[in-house]
Amino acid sequence: MSVSEAILEVDALRVHFHVPRGVVRAVDGVSLALRKGETLGLVGESGCGKSTVARAIVALVPTTSGDIRFRGESLIGLSRGRMRPLRRHLQMVFQDPYASLNPRMTIASTIAEPMRIHATVAPGDLDERVCEIMELVGLDPSMRRRYPHEFSGGQRQRIGLARALALEPDVILLDEPVSALDVSVQAQVLNLLEDLKARLGLTYLLIAHHLAVVRHMSERVAVMYLGRIVELADREPLYTEPIHPYTEALMSAIPVPDPVVEAERKRIPIEGEVPSPTATITGCPFRSRCPQAFERCEVEAPELEEHRPGHLAACHLPDAD
Ligand code: SF4
Repeated sequence: MSVSEAILEVDALRVHFHVPRGVVRAVDGVSLALRKGETLGLVGESGCGKSTVARAIVALVPTTSGDIRFRGESLIGLSRGRMRPLRRHLQMVFQDPYASLNPRMTIASTIAEPMRIHATVAPGDLDERVCEIMELVGLDPSMRRRYPHEFSGGQRQRIGLARALALEPDVILLDEPVSALDVSVQAQVLNLLEDLKARLGLTYLLIAHHLAVVRHMSERVAVMYLGRIVELADREPLYTEPIHPYTEALMSAIPVPDPVVEAERKRIPIEGEVPSPTATITGCPFRSRCPQAFERCEVEAPELEEHRPGHLAACHLPDAD
């Protein structure tokens, strides 16, 4: 992908944490690029490092090595003064909207705070702007003097979204945006996210473990395992013709609505344990659980390479055909 197509690029990103028993390689060489206006889904089991990628992008965790570029400009090592104007274009929405809202701040103050800090709106216009943003996310502006506990889970997620939108960002990192919500409310929030993306020309990185949600929302999808991307492709080829055995197993677990197809569907179980995050891994990180592992997998780690046009996978199998 050329730099001009990519609004956000992550290049060989590593986020390692030192713990008493060694080093946790939460993110271990992730590269991806978000094209302007797309939704890129990032999936994988809990603990695979997908949320840490997003947190590193918005500097909530320090990066160990690698680069993160917004519109071609590196965000690594910038001073606070240089970072601030760029950072406002990248916003994050968290899984638990309640935990991410200050219980002692009214909704109006919560939404206004980033605009006040970045001085993007004159103080006299703040209240009007708060009302506009509340309407944009489907909240009644007359409720703006209330506190977070007075709202439902779905409304709180709309408040989190309103706060993220306050600085008119280009990219929003959505970290499990509906998984804490009742199923009945999830569709409403997903529809709102799609509507806002179209109206405001947003670009999303959607992190979720719910594969059906990601399929519904994303143009492209990346699959993570043990801190690395193991497959990245357009949505349909990834869901219907996965290359990597891990992706194949994940996809085989998605229920099919047709009862006849569902009865005949073959599930591929993922046996075994995920290796300890502090373990030193030789060969393919998935080999201890891979039903198709062979000798080469024990000694050589597969690189993420293009196996079909636009379809990348980190697996030796396609070469073995
Ligand atoms: Fe399985 Fe080998 Fe492919 Fe790894 S490289 S996913 S162990 S076949």
